[in-house]
Amino acid sequence: MGQITLNKVRKAFGEAEVIPGIDLQINHGEFVVFVGPSGCGKSTLLRLIAGLEDISSGQIVIDGKEASNAPPGERGLAMVFQSYALYPHMSVRKNIAFPLKMAGMPPAEQDRRVEDAARILNLSNYLDRRPGQLSGGQRQRVAIGRAIVREPAAFLFDEPLSNLDAALRVTMRHEITELHQKLKTTMIYVTHDQVEAMTMADKIVVLHAGRIEQVGSPLELYNAPANIFVAGFIGSPR
Ligand code: ADP
Ligand code: MG
Repeated sequence: MGQITLNKVRKAFGEAEVIPGIDLQINHGEFVVFVGPSGCGKSTLLRLIAGLEDISSGQIVIDGKEASNAPPGERGLAMVFQSYALYPHMSVRKNIAFPLKMAGMPPAEQDRRVEDAARILNLSNYLDRRPGQLSGGQRQRVAIGRAIVREPAAFLFDEPLSNLDAALRVTMRHEITELHQKLKTTMIYVTHDQVEAMTMADKIVVLHAGRIEQVGSPLELYNAPANIFVAGFIGSPR
């Protein structure tokens, strides 16, 4: 589960060739970080994997199945959005259950999944509150809970912490890493933050102008950067 293969995946928006062609293998249970400067195509690549954008050519295979043209709901993946995407007028319970309700799942099964997710995220005592009555970190956990209940083959994160203050960002980084250790599910995490990449990833994919500059563990990239770009990008703090 959660094995994703990209073969020559290309994306153009009109004349603009944003991703000229990417080959990448993501293995079961890996924590993979796509890192690179703003505008390099991180979000686009994640959205292609999620099925939120159509690829221009190439192939996406998820768990052995050709998924290049599969609608998002049939890919078995869950995108984690920033916490401000929560519904302010709904309880935490209803926010987390929302995707299950949309999918028409029986209420008893919805409740079971919401309570399991709340336990994993230490939100059990907050299920009847509204998002506005939670701390920033708790709200981000609710947004993650909404993905967990779908029991996806992989979680896709697009800069989920970028609107949080520095201290909370550090806390949430640890929480997401711990969540990965608990669930052992594939996670793809997009960030422009080298520190996040170096501290969270099993495997880092360095992107630059829609191309992969290097793929490797944090240690490999640190010890043996493939080129000046990787060396400069990994080496320089924000
Ligand atoms: P990142 O997430 O790394 O900051 P993006 O994937 O958002 O980068 O964008 C990569 C490039 O693709 C940018 O030049 C951006 O302007 C362009 N782009 C992204 N989405 C669209 C779109 N829907 N239409 C046209 N150009 C787009
Ligand atoms: Mg982006």
